[in-house]
Order: sequence, then structure tokens, then C-alpha cells
Amino acid sequence: CGVVGIWGADDAAAMVALGLHALQHRGQEAAGIVSHDTERFYQHKGLGLVGEVFHDPRVMATLPGQSAIGHNRYATTGATLLRNVQPLYADFEFGGLAVAHNGNLTNAGTLRQALVRRGCLFQSTTDTEVFVHLIAISLYTNVMDRLIDAVKQVKGAYSLIALTPEMMVGLRDPLGVRPLILGRLPSSGGWMLASETCGLDIVGAEYVRDIEPGEIVVIDRDGIRSIKPFAETQSRFCVFEYIYFARPDSVLESQPVYSARKQIGVELARESAVDADVVVPVPDSGVPSAMGFAVESGIPFEMGIIRNHYVGRTFIEPTDQIRNLGVRMKHSANRTVLAGRRVVLVDDSIVRGTTSRKIVDMVRAAGATEVHMRISSPPTKHPCFYGIDTPEESKLLAATHDMAAMAEVIGVDSLAFISFDGLYRALGYEGRGAARGRYCDACFTGDYPIELVDKEGHLVA
Ligand code: 5GP
Ligand code: SF4
Ligand code: MG
Repeated sequence: CGVVGIWGADDAAAMVALGLHALQHRGQEAAGIVSHDTERFYQHKGLGLVGEVFHDPRVMATLPGQSAIGHNRYATTGATLLRNVQPLYADFEFGGLAVAHNGNLTNAGTLRQALVRRGCLFQSTTDTEVFVHLIAISLYTNVMDRLIDAVKQVKGAYSLIALTPEMMVGLRDPLGVRPLILGRLPSSGGWMLASETCGLDIVGAEYVRDIEPGEIVVIDRDGIRSIKPFAETQSRFCVFEYIYFARPDSVLESQPVYSARKQIGVELARESAVDADVVVPVPDSGVPSAMGFAVESGIPFEMGIIRNHYVGRTFIEPTDQIRNLGVRMKHSANRTVLAGRRVVLVDDSIVRGTTSRKIVDMVRAAGATEVHMRISSPPTKHPCFYGIDTPEESKLLAATHDMAAMAEVIGVDSLAFISFDGLYRALGYEGRGAARGRYCDACFTGDYPIELVDKEGHLVA
């Protein structure tokens, strides 16, 4: 998901909408904004893209105020229903609170069961709603103590923005699995929070810093302050943000996503060189690493697959049937580049293998004589429980097939994935050992840094 917040600016809701638009790649199912104008809260939410939900100027006019927060939804828990769309808003005796959450809690089901037993009436099926109830039932009197009380009970990945009449709050879980960035609005002196720096760029906000893992940043009339309620631990930022999820023009934890991706391509070319005539990215996700691969190998980079930009990301579509339809809608082969050529196809990941198979078939049908697949992530062998919608193990091609069997399923002449050393070299470390414990890479290694409470307790949220 993508989250955005603005504090202290006219047209706060419009700026949030722009920020959400820049973060559209983080979730395309639904979008919502809650604003506050010193008197009361206003909200608008809908299913679909930001541009669809907020396309009517009359809708923007219903979101007045100098503070607003927004959310782009990418469902990892809970169905695609309007009542699951964030920000979630609730009335409290202290005046109301809205929350927008990116990530996934690993004990939401367990907490929810306990809360329901105590009489809490849940309105949605999202994991995020447990924050709202934990805040509501907390015995502390002030909002900040209640929020701290709540975050100390949840486990999992959360980058959260909250809005009350008096303050905007941004926080990250102790391991900082998902990103959250702080920015400053030069025109009004107001503040901005966004999942990625590309959310700041679109409104001309200046990058201030990343919110730290385990940090709560409070922005109110008196300025900005930081609270650190957790003991410090080694953070574990999601390595897949660099590989695929974040937008390439974003800079996360001081590391440009674009350079990381391109460098993975360089490392891939060193590790898994192949004699070929063209390097072709699977757009858009494969483009930066294909460029790195081409530069390092000296094989020309060509746009052998053309992407139709008027469809969403196929992976995010809910059913297999639509996913299968989607890929044909999305990619087409550029015969001029492919016919009679030995092709290196570069993509970021293989999940189910269905997209890859179709693309390879399409490239061959366009006349490619050989197809070699190079993947800029290690094999995806495990599900993500921290906010990326990777399917269960039985559906992951790499969990059920060895390398040769995968190459056969996908229909390629050769197949190679980046090694862990190569990946971490691309991120600026000497290798996997040097980077060990700094990133989450559980979907590749199975080394889950945060306890999977619901899963292990056999509870379903
Ligand atoms: P597959 O060949 O497994 O069907 O599809 C792999 C493609 O799905 C890659 O091109 C990748 O860009 C795309 N993709 C989209 N969203 C995700 C995601 O959340 N996780 C992974 N691993 N791949 C994704
Ligand atoms: Fe990121 Fe994979 Fe860890 Fe999920 S399991 S947080 S996708 S590295
Ligand atoms: Mg892709």
C-alpha cells in the first residue's frame, strides 16, 4: 500500500491526492483521503485508482482543511470491499482519529479474536482495524500514550500515518520493514509524510529524512518531535522494495532504487553471462536491471516487448482468470527487434511463472531463435507475511521446482537468478555475509525476522 500525509498547508487533500497518484504502483484496488479543517473530519474513499476515486473536482471540494492523510490499497488481508478501504476513521472522546497503514500485522487475527471476545465490534476485515480498537480500549488518557500502548501489542510490519484534530503522526515498526519518508513543504512550511520520496517529489516537497525504524514522529502546532518507545534493534528493511515494489525514482534509506536495480543487472551479467544478440526487459519492472545487464555484457538493450500502460499490474488482479487475461492485455512482442535474434529476457521475479511462460511464448512466436531468462531477484520460495501479496508456497514456482524444471515450465533455453551475494553487492555490501541481518529477504530465504503469530497459532484473521 501507499500512504501520504500533509500537515499545515492549504489544499492538503489535493496534495495528498497527488502524493497517492505518485504512489499508485503500491496499490491499485482502492484509495481514500481523510481531511480535517480544525472543526471536523471529512472523508472520501472508493474502489479503483486514485484518478478514478478523486477525478471529480466536487469530491475534492468536500475535503477541506490544512491537514489530510490518504491511502492506496493493495489487499493483503481482507476482501476488496468499500468498508476495507483506508484511511480508517473512528470517533473517540478525544475527538477522532484516522489511520492509514502500509504493511501487514502478523498477530492481527489473534488480537482480533481477543478484542471481539471483549465486545469490540469490528467494521472491516482488515488487520489495520485492530490498531483502532487497541487505541479505543487503552486505559491511558492521552492519545499518544494510547497509540504507544497499541503499537506495543501489535506484531508485524507497519508504516502508519495517523491524524487527530491536534496532530499528525508517522511511525514505523521496530524493524522498519516498510518505508516511510518525512518531507517539508517549502511554500507553507508544512510537513509531509509519504511511503516513498516520489510522493514528495510530485508536490515539490523537500526530502528531510526517513522515519527511523521504531520511531514515532509527532507533528503538531508546536512543531515536530520524535518518540522512541522500543529498545533499539537491527532494522530489517524489505529488500524486495529495491527489487520490485518501490518506484525507480525513489530513494529509500539513502539508497536510490534505480541504481540498486541497475546494479543488480550488472551483477547478473557478471554471474550469468550468455551469448546473445539483444537484451530485452520485461517492462516496466525489468527495465533498470536490463539496462545494467546490457551495459555490463555489451549486448545491445532493445525494447523487444512493448507495454500497454492502460492496464494495472497483472499480479495485483485478484483471480487467476483475470491474471491470465491481463498479461495479454499488457504486453506485446516487438517483432522488429526479436525476429531471428538470440534474446536475453530480464525480469525482476518469477512468482507463479504464468506471466513469464506467456511472455516467453510470445517472444518465440515473434521469431526469437533463443530465449535466455535472467531474474533480478533470488528464487521466490516463501510467502510474504509483511505486506506483499506473494501467494502460498504451493503456488510459487521456485518452491516446487528445481532450476531445470523451472526453465522447462517457462520454456527458456537457460534460466538464472541473481545470487544472494550478487544482490547484496548491488546494494553496496561486500556480499550476503556483510549485509546479513540488515534486510528482510524472507520470501527468498524463509528467514522471517518477525514472529508469525497467527500462522503459528493456526488462526485465520
Ligand atoms: P509470474 O511469471 O510469476 O507469473 O509473474 C512474475 C511477474 O509478476 C514479474 O514480472 C513481476 O514484475 C510481477 N509482479 C507483480 N507484482 C508482484 C509482487 O508483488 N511480487 C512478485 N514477486 N512479483 C510481482
Ligand atoms: Fe519484503 Fe520478501 Fe520480506 Fe516480504 S518477505 S517483507 S517481500 S523481503
Ligand atoms: Mg513485471
